[in-house]
Amino acid sequence: MSDIYPAGDEFILVYEATGKLIPQGGLPLDIGCVVVNVETLFNIGLAANDIPVTEKFITVTGAVKSPCTFKAPIGISFDDCLKLAGGATVRDFAILSGGAMMGELVTDISTPITKTTAGLIVLPVDHPLIKRRMLSQEKLERVGASACDQCYRCTDLCPRWLLGYQIIPHEVMRSLQFSGPRWEQFSMKALNCIECNICSLYACPEDLDPKNVCAHAKRELFARGLRPDKSRQVDVHPFRSGRQVPTALLTRKLGLAPFDLPAPYIETDFAPQKVRIPLKQHAGSAAVPVVSVNDKVVRGQLIGDISPVALGAKVHSSIDGAVKLIDNYITIVRG
Ligand code: SF4
Ligand code: SF4
Repeated sequence: MSDIYPAGDEFILVYEATGKLIPQGGLPLDIGCVVVNVETLFNIGLAANDIPVTEKFITVTGAVKSPCTFKAPIGISFDDCLKLAGGATVRDFAILSGGAMMGELVTDISTPITKTTAGLIVLPVDHPLIKRRMLSQEKLERVGASACDQCYRCTDLCPRWLLGYQIIPHEVMRSLQFSGPRWEQFSMKALNCIECNICSLYACPEDLDPKNVCAHAKRELFARGLRPDKSRQVDVHPFRSGRQVPTALLTRKLGLAPFDLPAPYIETDFAPQKVRIPLKQHAGSAAVPVVSVNDKVVRGQLIGDISPVALGAKVHSSIDGAVKLIDNYITIVRG
C-alpha cells in the first residue's frame, strides 16, 4: 500500500488491498472480506491457549526524551508510560492518545491504559494540534457558520467522498445556518463520515472544523435512527489517486516533523505498584466485578465478568496483588 493517510479505515483498506468496494452502510463481509487488527489476531492466538489479555503494546512519542515502544500491564497510568520513555521534554504538555489525526486529548496523566490504548503523542500545550482540540463545539460551530465560504475543498479531499460514498462536508457546514428539516437535509451528508480529520486539519484553508461538525451531525442523526442509504451506487472518483494525502506531507502540515523520530521496541521489566483496570474497555456493556475489596488476585485471574445476556468482554487482573478499590475500575495494589 502507498504511504497515505487515512489507510486504516476498513472501506479504504479493503479497496486498496482487493480493489473491491464495500457497499455504502455495509460491512467488509458483504464482499467476502474480514478486517482484523494485527494485535487482535495476536490476542486471539493467546486466547486459543487460554491466555487472557493482560498486557498492551504501547508507543510513546512526541516531546519525550526517548521515544519507544514496549509491552506493559493494562491499567498502568499514562504517567508510568511517560517515565518509561524518559519523561516529557517540556513542562506543560498534553497527550494525544490514538494518533495525531483521530486521537483523544488527555490532560490527566493518571488515566490508565486499556486494551485499546496504542500510541501516546506528547505535545506542548501550545502546539496547534492541542489548541484546536481544546475549542468548544459551540465556538467551532459559531466560527464555522460565519466563516465558511463553501469553497468545497473539504469535500474535494475527503477520502470517503473520493471513494464514492455520500459524504459532503461542505454541505454539512451549510447546515450550521439552519435548524429543523433544512438542518437535517444538509446534515444527512455526514452519515458516512469516518472522522479522519483530513477536512479540518489538512484541507480547509480557513482552519475551520468540518470534521467536528460532521461528527456532531452524524451522532444526532444516528440517535434519531437514520442510517446511510444502502442502495446507493458507489463509484470511485476519477481524480482519487491524485488527491490522496501523503503521510510525510501531512506530518509537516501538522507541525509534527520535529517529532517524527524512531520509537524502537524495548524490553522492560517494569513492575507497577498499582494498576487501575477499567470495567469497560470495549463496545457493549461494562463487565461486572467478581472480586471484592481486599481479595488477593493473581495475574490473569478473572476480575470482571459479562452477563450471559449482555454483549461485552471479560476483564482480568494484569498483576499479582490485592483489590483496593472497586468503582468503574478495579484498582489492584501489588503484594
Ligand atoms: S474547506 Fe473550509 S471554508 Fe471550504 S467549504 Fe470546507 S469548511 Fe468551508
Ligand atoms: S472527517 Fe472530513 S475528510 Fe474525513 S471522512 Fe469526515 S468529512 Fe471526510
